[in-house]
Amino acid sequence: MSNQLHIKIVLVNTSHPGNIGATARAMKNMGLSRLTLVNPVEFPSGVSVGRAASALNVLEQAEVVGTLSEAIADCTLVIGSSARSRSLPWPMLTPEQSASKIVTESKNAQVALIFGREDSGLNNEELQLCHYHVQIPASDQYSSLNLAAAAMVLCYEIRKAVLRDNEEPGRVERDYWDQEKASVRQVEYFYEHLERVLVEIEFHDRDNPRQLMQRIRRLFGRVRIDSMEMNILRGILTNIEQKIRSLRG
Ligand code: SAH
Repeated sequence: MSNQLHIKIVLVNTSHPGNIGATARAMKNMGLSRLTLVNPVEFPSGVSVGRAASALNVLEQAEVVGTLSEAIADCTLVIGSSARSRSLPWPMLTPEQSASKIVTESKNAQVALIFGREDSGLNNEELQLCHYHVQIPASDQYSSLNLAAAAMVLCYEIRKAVLRDNEEPGRVERDYWDQEKASVRQVEYFYEHLERVLVEIEFHDRDNPRQLMQRIRRLFGRVRIDSMEMNILRGILTNIEQKIRSLRG
C-alpha cells in the first residue's frame, strides 16, 4: 500500500545499530520500506540484523550516504523530527498533520522524514534543511523518546493516514497544483545563487551574516515553491548579475 508512496525514513548519524534495526522493523510493521542512513556509526551490524527480525529486507535495501543534503536532494517535502524547539522558531506540525502531509505529497513526489542522533538530535543546520518540524507531544518531565520509539510513533501516524485515505479517498488533505514542487536540490542551487547576488549587491556580508540565510530558508520553505517559480527567480538573479556586470563595464 504505502510502498507505492515515495516516503523515505532518514536516520542521521545513528550511534546504536540496535536502533537502526528496530526502526527497520517499525517501518515494515507500518508498511514502509525505504530507509536511508546518513553516516551511520556502525553499519552493517549483526545487532541491527537481530533487532530487525523479519524486516531484514528493509536493512538490506537501505541506502547509505555521507550527508543529509545528499539524502534529501531528490525530495520535495522534508520533515525533521525533534524533541525540542530551537532558537529560530520553525513551522511545526503535530504527528497527525505531518502524516497527512507526507501521505498526500508522496503520491506524486519524494518525501523524507528525518530522525536525529540519540545523544544530540539534529543540529540547527540539519533542522534548517527541513520544511517543517514535527514534535511528539511527550511528557514535559521527559520528552525525548528513544530513536526507534519515535520512529514507530511517526510511522504509525503515517499508517493511519494511509488507511484513512484508502477507506475514504479525499479525507486526507488534497494538494492540487499545476507545477511540480521544486526539489531540495533545485532550491539549494537557488539559495547559493541568491547568496552570491546578495553579497555582490552588498546586502549580505558573509562575515556578519546575522541569520539572513536561515531566515530566507524559512521564508521559502513556508512558500513551498514550485519548479516554474524557481526558474523565474533564478532567471531574475541571472539578469541582476548581468546588469551589474554591464554597469561595471
Ligand atoms: N537529546 C536529543 C534527543 C534525541 S532522541 C535532543 O534533545 O534533541 C533521537 C531522535 O528521536 C531525535 O533526534 C528525534 O528525531 C526523535 N525524537 C525523540 N523524541 C522526540 C519527540 N518527542 N518528538 C519528535 N521526535 C523525537
